[in-house]
Amino acid sequence: LVSRKWRVRPTVLDLGDGVRIGEGSLTLAAGPCSIESEKQMELIMQHLVDNDVRIMRGGVFKPRSSPYAFRGLGMEGLKDFHRMARQRGIKIVTEVMQVSQVEEMHDYVDVFQVGARNTQNFNLLDALGGVDKPVMIKRGISGTIEELLSSAEYVFSGGNEKLILCERGIRTFETASRNTLDLNAVPILKEKTHLPVIVDPSHGIGIREYVPTMALAGVMAGADGIIYEAHEKPEEAASDGAQTLNFQESERLIRNLRRVYKLR
Ligand code: PEP
Ligand code: MN
Repeated sequence: LVSRKWRVRPTVLDLGDGVRIGEGSLTLAAGPCSIESEKQMELIMQHLVDNDVRIMRGGVFKPRSSPYAFRGLGMEGLKDFHRMARQRGIKIVTEVMQVSQVEEMHDYVDVFQVGARNTQNFNLLDALGGVDKPVMIKRGISGTIEELLSSAEYVFSGGNEKLILCERGIRTFETASRNTLDLNAVPILKEKTHLPVIVDPSHGIGIREYVPTMALAGVMAGADGIIYEAHEKPEEAASDGAQTLNFQESERLIRNLRRVYKLR
C-alpha cells in the first residue's frame, strides 16, 4: 500500500492552517530535543514564527539510553506545548513511546513521532493505524529501508494513510559521527514509495557544526523536508545539546534550505 506501484501520485498531508507536508513544498520542523519549560517554548516558538517555520518538534516522553538521564515533562508538558503552539499557529510533532499514550496524547499533537527505537514496535504501529492523525516513522537504529517501509505498511494497512518517513541515520562501524546519515535512502525511498520523506540531520550526524551541511545535502538528495534540533542555549539543553543549533545557526540554515530547495 505504501508502494508507488499501488499509488503513483505522491501523498501530500494537510495539517490545516495552510501547513502541508509532501511534494510541492519544503517542510521545515525545528525545536529542542526535549521540551524543558514554558519559557523555553516561548523563545523557540518566537524564533519559528520569525522565520515562518510552521512546525515545532520537541519530546515530552524521551527514550534515553541511560535511565538516569532527563526523560521529559510528560503529559503536563505536552498540554502546555499544545496550548502555546495553538496560540501561535504552530503545529506539533512529538514522540509517542507506547500504546497507552496514543489515546491520551491524541488531542494534543499534530503529528505522532515514532522514534528509531520503536520503529519495529508492532503493537504501537497497530495502535497508530487506528488514529486519524499523521504519523512520522523514523528509521530504526539498525533498520533497513525495507524494514522502514514494512513499518509504514503496518500503519497504512491499519487504516491510517497519513504517513511520513524519516531518515535519521543508522548505526554503522563508523564512530567519527553519532550515526551515519544514509542519504542514499532518500532517492531510494522517493522511488519506492508515494509517502513524504523527511531528513533529520541532527540525529543523523550528531555534531552541531555539520548539521547544516547535511541538512542541505538532504534537500539536494530529494527530501520533502528537514527536521532538526534547535534551542536558545544548546550548551544547556537537557538532551542532545551537542547536535543542537542555536537561533543564529538555525536562522541561517532556514535561509539556505529555502534557497537550495529552489535550485533543485
Ligand atoms: C528525537 O527526535 O529526539 C529522537 C529521540 O530521535 P530518534 O528516535 O531518531 O533517536
Ligand atoms: Mn534528540
